[in-house]
Amino acid sequence: MSYRIISSFLCVSFLGICIPFADGADSAVNTKCPISGKAIKAKCAMKYEGEKIAFCCGKCFKKFKSDPATLVAKVVRDAVPVNTTCPMSGRDIKAGCVAAYKEETIGFCGGGCKKKFEADPAAMIGKVVRTSKKQD
Ligand SMILES: [Zn+2]
Ligand SMILES: [Zn+2]
Repeated sequence: MSYRIISSFLCVSFLGICIPFADGADSAVNTKCPISGKAIKAKCAMKYEGEKIAFCCGKCFKKFKSDPATLVAKVVRDAVPVNTTCPMSGRDIKAGCVAAYKEETIGFCGGGCKKKFEADPAAMIGKVVRTSKKQD
């Protein structure tokens, strides 16, 4: 059991019920549950390696939690980033190379830029040029 992971979310695990992040699942990197393939539920999400992964139900959430290192490979990162150019390099963003920060999904041109962003998102967020708007 990793307490690093556990401390990043709250979950009544014996019931399989997820308790939502303050900002819901709208900045999750995925729109389909990585376990079942069904549509995600806004209240069922956790942070893993800097990404917010959302699930369709508490059961899938629990399953993911039991082996995130393996199951993260099943996550399809299809959430739409707010930007189209990399905030670090200015190049076009790469599909699937995204990070969740606050209420937004930020895209990057590659893993190196994503890591740089994640090292200090509060400072780097100012470089993000938002080209797509979130739905109201
Ligand atoms: Zn499920
Ligand atoms: Zn980049």
